[in-house]
Amino acid sequence: MYSSPCLSELLTSEYNELMKIAIIGSGIAGLASAYFLREHECEVYEAKPFMSLAGHGMSLENGKIIDIPLRVIHPEYYPQLFSLCDELKISLRKLEHSGSFSLSNRHDKFEYFNISLFKKRFNFIKPRLSYFKLGASFMRFYYLCHKYKNDSSYDMISFGDFLETHKVSSKLAKLVLYPLLSSICTCDYEELDRFPSRVLLEMMSMIAGPVPMERFYAGTHDIENALSSHLGKLHLESKVDKIIVDRDGANLVIDGVTRKYDHIVIGTEAHVIKEFLEVNEHTEHILEDLKVVPYKTTDTIIETVAGDHDQILNEKSLHYLEHPSGGQAQASMWLNKVEPHLLLNEATMQTWNPYGKSDRELKRSSLNRALMTVDSYQAVKRIQKFEHSAFSFAGSYLAQGVPLLEGGVESARRIKERLEMRKNR
Ligand SMILES: Cc1cc2nc3c(=O)[nH]c(=O)nc-3n(C[C@H](O)[C@H](O)[C@H](O)COP(=O)(O)OP(=O)(O)OC[C@H]3O[C@@H](n4cnc5c(N)ncnc54)[C@H](O)[C@@H]3O)c2cc1C
Repeated sequence: MYSSPCLSELLTSEYNELMKIAIIGSGIAGLASAYFLREHECEVYEAKPFMSLAGHGMSLENGKIIDIPLRVIHPEYYPQLFSLCDELKISLRKLEHSGSFSLSNRHDKFEYFNISLFKKRFNFIKPRLSYFKLGASFMRFYYLCHKYKNDSSYDMISFGDFLETHKVSSKLAKLVLYPLLSSICTCDYEELDRFPSRVLLEMMSMIAGPVPMERFYAGTHDIENALSSHLGKLHLESKVDKIIVDRDGANLVIDGVTRKYDHIVIGTEAHVIKEFLEVNEHTEHILEDLKVVPYKTTDTIIETVAGDHDQILNEKSLHYLEHPSGGQAQASMWLNKVEPHLLLNEATMQTWNPYGKSDRELKRSSLNRALMTVDSYQAVKRIQKFEHSAFSFAGSYLAQGVPLLEGGVESARRIKERLEMRKNR
């Protein structure tokens, strides 16, 4: 438990309805915080020269933008993000999500395709004996996901141990589960093994069901624009050097200049917070927990590929391929197929974690991402409960599930609710 004073202890009659709030970071967590707290005077500080929710994207000559990374979302696993999109009138569309999985020898393969029926999407496999066997192993795994998704004792059992204890087919794990889940979590297989199993089981129980995955209709720019349209001030290329908090408020230091705020929302990655949050009695315990959250940087590329447009439309949308060295996979998506509104002339792919070099590479982006371990999940649960009148934390790493966009919205909404409690006193 943290010894810092909680909001309810600190709330005084001095509470001023309109607060001056600084938000650090312009990812989904920072921007959703700015939106939820829009009745206050909010300023966002971002170290990069662009807002980072959509700013990594690649502009095309026809004025369209390729989202990097190409994020997909799911109505059951992202209830808060879907409700926010509804409120902001952001158009979403269902994703054609057929896929193929190959080991590095390229002979061992598994493929599935989708058919839409009654607003649901059903996955099918070709009638081949090896596919039937894998399909049956998958159905058993899917059953285990439902069986243990609410069992909190599985928060303490790592995914690697779960697969072993429950004798999940090793062929299924190697060909399908590791490539799929390591791509969703953007990590290698060893890192995936350390995730708390319940969190992955819960996610799979929803996203592997018949409800299809979705995308923001015209990319993440839509939601970035909608969230930032209410912003008071946006300071780009403004790296916060120091935050000093005390009982009365918080001070933010940039380039030697100190600015005072009633409240600061720290919406940066967890592992960088130790670089600027001053250690004192209010922060020392929470800083220890923040340090436990693991991060990982991986590459995503856009490349053109020889092949004609019609041929690609007959291909599966998603291709998972084991790296020749094993232990990790790459995941490629045909943009012509999943992003038809881009009107691409050439066969174009977005590939996460490519193992080879391509001479037709158009853009490479190195992106940072929170991972999880059994220990970090316990630390995150403590950070979720942290309350202080002068500062709060927002970030996808604070998710109840896998760190994805939903966690950013979830954490931002928590801050709004806590500050509202303060207002209502
Ligand atoms: C390859 C890849 C694919 C993904 N695919 C999906 C997907 O399909 N679906 C999905 O839901 N999620 C996906 N994710 C995860 C999702 O993108 C992240 O979880 C989410 O964007 C993180 O948002 P955030 O606001 O918590 O943090 P960030 O977006 O990391 O924002 C933190 C911001 O803080 C800024 N900052 C840091 N330090 C300072 C400082 N000192 N001063 C000022 N600013 C600072 C940083 O520059 C950054 O802009 C993917 C991630 C990756 C890497």
